[in-house]
Amino acid sequence: MRILIVEDARKIAEAAAAPLHRDGFAVDIVETGQAADEALALQAFDLVILDLGLPDVDGTALIVRWRARGTATPILVLTARTAVEARVSALDRGADDYLIKPFEADELAARCRALLRRARGEAHDVLRAGALVLDRVRKSVSVAGVGIELPNREFRLLDVLLTAQGRVLSKEEIAGKLYGFDDAAGPNAIEVYVARLRKRLEGSGITIRTLRGLGYTVQEDAS
Ligand code: CA
Repeated sequence: MRILIVEDARKIAEAAAAPLHRDGFAVDIVETGQAADEALALQAFDLVILDLGLPDVDGTALIVRWRARGTATPILVLTARTAVEARVSALDRGADDYLIKPFEADELAARCRALLRRARGEAHDVLRAGALVLDRVRKSVSVAGVGIELPNREFRLLDVLLTAQGRVLSKEEIAGKLYGFDDAAGPNAIEVYVARLRKRLEGSGITIRTLRGLGYTVQEDAS
């Protein structure tokens, strides 16, 4: 899952990014409306966190522009404006939720998870495939009730694969969801993570299949 934070106050942007990094999201930070436009044109994001008071453009105007363009990405507005009109206006123009500054990191992360669930049409944060269960909130993976330890990258990779269950994901698609712009690793590193995750999933009843030239898909073994 990849999140774009549009916020010109560096400290606030970093405070918002910290709990999201902990939750395993790839996070990119931009400081202007123009940079946000460019980032969205370049890369698919699963969620945008948007400050209304940006140096070059009002955040509400960005919401209008993106929605007019057909961008369906969920938008969480961050605002220091306590006037109810500003919030109502942002929501009416296509924002999905808002948080007033100063905000609690845990609440921000929980609201992001809720928006991402809603966007995927899921009611909760638990993914299942056969006997395998991935819990995004607890950061746990288990097979038939027995826990499996997964490093952060492999955990996120499994999350991406399970979320797309039944679909083939290309290396580029997976890399786009796992990495932020500042991460050096590219699609080739995906092969390494897939190999490691495969090893960890041995005997779990779940197999990651490689479809040559297309990408990867996760499947339950035939029993
Ligand atoms: Ca601002």
